[in-house]
Parts: sequence; C-alpha cells; structure tokens
Amino acid sequence: MTTTEVENFPGFPDGITGPDLMDRMRRQAERWGAELFQEDVEFVDVKNSPFTVQSSERKVNCHSVIVATGATARRLSLPREDEFWSRGISACAICDGASPLFKGQVLAVVGGGDTATEEALYLTKYGRHVHLLVRRDQLRASKAMQDRVYNNPNITVHFNTETLDIVSNTKGQMSGILVRKVDTGEESVLEAKGLFYGIGHSPNSQFLEGQIELDSSGYVLVEEGTAKTSVEGVFAAGDVQFHDLLIGS
Ligand code: NDP
Repeated sequence: MTTTEVENFPGFPDGITGPDLMDRMRRQAERWGAELFQEDVEFVDVKNSPFTVQSSERKVNCHSVIVATGATARRLSLPREDEFWSRGISACAICDGASPLFKGQVLAVVGGGDTATEEALYLTKYGRHVHLLVRRDQLRASKAMQDRVYNNPNITVHFNTETLDIVSNTKGQMSGILVRKVDTGEESVLEAKGLFYGIGHSPNSQFLEGQIELDSSGYVLVEEGTAKTSVEGVFAAGDVQFHDLLIGS
C-alpha cells in the first residue's frame, strides 16, 4: 500500500487517504459477517477439492476462492529509489498526481507505452511541464495516444533516454533526474520534482502457477465477461485478471 492521497475514488469529494479507505472497506465487510485475517498466504492448492489456502498462521479449507492479489507496478531499482519513494517517485500518476508535492512543478514519466503516455497527459493537469523519458527511439503506445502526446505543448518526449537516478537539493528534496542518452552515452540532469513510473506491471499470481490457466505474462485467464477461471470455484478479480483497456478511450 503505497498510495497516500486517493483523489479519484467515487463518493469522496475531498479525497481520502489510502489507509482510511481500506479501513472503511474492512469495517463494511465485517458489518456483514466477514472474518478478516491479515497474514501472508504461503500456499494454495486448488487442484484438489476442497481447496486449501495456507497462510503463515492457519490453514483454511474451502470450496471457493476469489483471487484478488493485484499486479505490482514494475520499478526501475534506481540507486536512490527507496529514499524518494512517495517523496518524488510514484508508480501511479492517477493516484498521486494531484498531491501538493507535484502541483505546478516540472514532472517526468518513464516509459513509452499506453500507461506512460496516459500518465504524462494526466499529469499536465497538475504539473507545469512533463518530460516523457523513453529508452528506445520510438513509443510503444497506440497511435491515438502518441498523437495526443505529440500535440500537447506541455509534454516533451526524450527518446533514447535512460533514467539513471534521482538528484536532490541541499534540503534533501528531489530536484532532478540523472539521465543518459543511449546513443551518445552523454549524461545530464533534468530538472524535475516528480518521477512517475509507467513501465508496466507484474501480476501477483506466482502461487497459482501450474494450477490454473495464466497467460504468457502471468495474468489469470478468465471466461470472457466473467470472473471464472479455468478451475470451477476459483474466481479472479481486479488487476490480477488482465483486460486490455480500450485504446483511445
Ligand atoms: P507496456 O509493456 O505496453 O509498455 C511498457 C513501456 O515501458 C515500454 O515502452 C517499455 O519500453 C518501457 N520499459 C519497460 N521497462 C523499462 C525500463 N526498465 N526502463 C525504461 N523503460 C522501460 O506496458 P503498459 O503498462 O504501458 O501497457 C500494458 C497494456 O495495457 C498494454 O496492452 C496497453 O495497451 C494497455 N493500456 C491501455 C491503456 C488505454 O488504452 N487507455 C492505458 C494503459 C495501458 P520498450 O518499448 O523499449 O520495451
């Protein structure tokens, strides 16, 4: 849970913090009889019925399992990444872009796909200018998203650009990004107060490998329009169950 302020959840006109939102959901579920255990699941067996879910604390047998383990945003593993995580670096522009930390500032997004271009466009609502840092000489994003980025005067696309590290000022705040041109090897510092990762996600489905059908990236395959997986009684919901979003929507 790395999101602090959530500005786009319906029903909270003034925004809400991530932990507060989760606490409300927990209390609502408990009011209707759910029993919650906050512990790591270590092993799942959905090949034999009843299914087994084994956590660090207990073993539960059940006839139905809903997998909602999400997907983890990929990170760059920059040398100073941990130091600036949530203090300048974020993996979700939609969740964190409206933070006062980024308002009116120069920001950067790394990646060249639909996520990165969408994040860059979104951030122009809050930041003064947005740099899109692309490691290759072309974008992977859909044509529609590319056009939107190229036609936005508040976005500069930097091709052949590797993101190397965060640079800070004397107060220890993020002040820039160390980048390197892949073609020339030239290094420079780009002034920016925020860096957003848009380099894809990895589904948290490793514990299901070999038990239910996953696609080549590890996302749980479901029957179209449902949450049904390849095993009866096992359902998948949320980001672990991948859907290609409608391009240009
Ligand atoms: P993608 O895998 O499509 O793109 C990832 C991007 O990040 C690529 O440009 C890749 O570069 C770059 N990248 C990966 N690793 C690194 C790294 N270590 N350093 C620098 N750059 C890196 O992921 P997305 O999340 O963008 O999209 C996933 C899927 O979701 C796609 O099918 C997409 O179409 C869809 N989507 C649709 C949206 C919409 O329609 N509105 C919005 C968001 C996503 P390279 O190209 O060199 O590999």
